[in-house]
Amino acid sequence: MDIHIPAQRIPILAEADIVVCGGGPAGIAAAVSAARAGASTILIERWATVGGMATNALVNAWHRSDREKVVIDGLVEECCVRAEAGGWIRRDPGYPRVHETHWFEPEGMTVVFHRLLDEAKVRTFCHLALGEPVVEDGRIRAVLVDTKRGRRAIAGRIFIDATGDGDLAVKAGMPFGYGREEDGLVQGCTLVFGLHGIDPAARAAAGGDAAVNAAVEVLKTMRDRGEFPPFNVGNCGHLLRNARDHDLWNMLPVIGDILDEEEITRMNVLARERLVRYLEVWRREVPGFASAQIERTGHALGVRESRRVQGLKTLDRDMVLQARKQPDAIGHGVWMIDIHDPKGSGYTTYLNGNKGWLVAGTSYHIPLSMCLTDRIANLGFVGRCASTTHEGLSSVRVQTHCMVMGQGVGTCAALALQRGCDMTDFPVAELQRRLRADGVHLQDVPDA
Ligand SMILES: Cc1cc2nc3c(=O)[nH]c(=O)nc-3n(C[C@H](O)[C@H](O)[C@H](O)COP(=O)(O)OP(=O)(O)OC[C@H]3O[C@@H](n4cnc5c(N)ncnc54)[C@H](O)[C@@H]3O)c2cc1C
Repeated sequence: MDIHIPAQRIPILAEADIVVCGGGPAGIAAAVSAARAGASTILIERWATVGGMATNALVNAWHRSDREKVVIDGLVEECCVRAEAGGWIRRDPGYPRVHETHWFEPEGMTVVFHRLLDEAKVRTFCHLALGEPVVEDGRIRAVLVDTKRGRRAIAGRIFIDATGDGDLAVKAGMPFGYGREEDGLVQGCTLVFGLHGIDPAARAAAGGDAAVNAAVEVLKTMRDRGEFPPFNVGNCGHLLRNARDHDLWNMLPVIGDILDEEEITRMNVLARERLVRYLEVWRREVPGFASAQIERTGHALGVRESRRVQGLKTLDRDMVLQARKQPDAIGHGVWMIDIHDPKGSGYTTYLNGNKGWLVAGTSYHIPLSMCLTDRIANLGFVGRCASTTHEGLSSVRVQTHCMVMGQGVGTCAALALQRGCDMTDFPVAELQRRLRADGVHLQDVPDA
């Protein structure tokens, strides 16, 4: 049975040129860039603080290099500089010859992100989940939100979906993909956590790496017998051998339909039960872990893949691996095809062995048109929910790449409003000039 709601008059809570829904890396970059380019801007975020997976799920590694040089700058570089000033980020020792160029402290990055938004005068509403959009004549006029004081509307001229799940775009009627072509399964999720009470001296005294490796074999045997939860063996082994207190552990898989609230609740609870079981066994089996305790966990389960909204161009595996260049480029991408097993083994599957990697020294272009549509003229979508295949997403989902999309689309939105045109009609060469002036690395752009 359905419930019928009588027509209501909804008060307007706030109004701006540009409304960004979702305050993860993509949404922050979009909102800050739009505001800096002169548009009044609102950001709506359902959690208590912005940062999305970077802060609330403790995902703290950034990828900026093609393994020879850094090719992702702009707002990403600005965040690194600000985080360095706060002592919240470190460069990888292999910089810039490794993909993973920076590691940050999520608490510090939360502060960096909120400062950026405040300084740009973005009106930021946390604790506010997006409801239904109001669509009239092919344009979004407002989005509804349920506040503690009742239902309200947030009105705007351009809307940017940065929810990671494509909530706004899909509720507005946009087509989308979800999961692998063959079975609809999305990449595995991970609960990231930190520990304290690790004793590196005890680990070394018991035989160091050799002793830990032997313990990992015990864990694998127990797992195969169903006595120990699944785990990412590579990451787990590395961390058991090297981790110190406060390091962040990215190795605990869970799977399911992340768009089903009841199921994701179950997944989150299961992940926490698995962590408790890990520790019970590690204290007994792994040297140096006898007194280890849980220090923190991601407030949210780490989600890698959700709805992929269908845009004007769809980023796929070949565009990534062949390092394709695009006339409407808004920045570069470097990350590999990196698929975390949708069946939950905890393993990362690189296509055909190591062939998921781009050739060192090369990068692909992130096109503006993977974030735009001609179905709803005043809508953009950035970050995890932009237009990709399952494989294309596995590369471009990383935070720095999502921020490239956010900066490009946020800037485009503000400039298009100033010109009085839609984003799809804004001259891309002019946008690219502006992005370069704002520090974005943008090279080898072919003619249209
Ligand atoms: C375990 C794990 C490890 C990873 N490893 C790396 C890594 O090493 N390096 C890397 O760069 N990337 C990594 N990633 C990927 C990366 O973190 C995400 O793909 C990236 O954060 C996506 O950015 P986003 O802004 O598009 O989405 P998100 O970070 O998911 O942010 C979306 C935001 O929108 C908000 N939101 C959602 N729905 C609504 C709504 N209806 N109303 C209001 N707000 C809403 C959310 O609360 C969230 O804050 C990893 C991901 C996971 C899960």
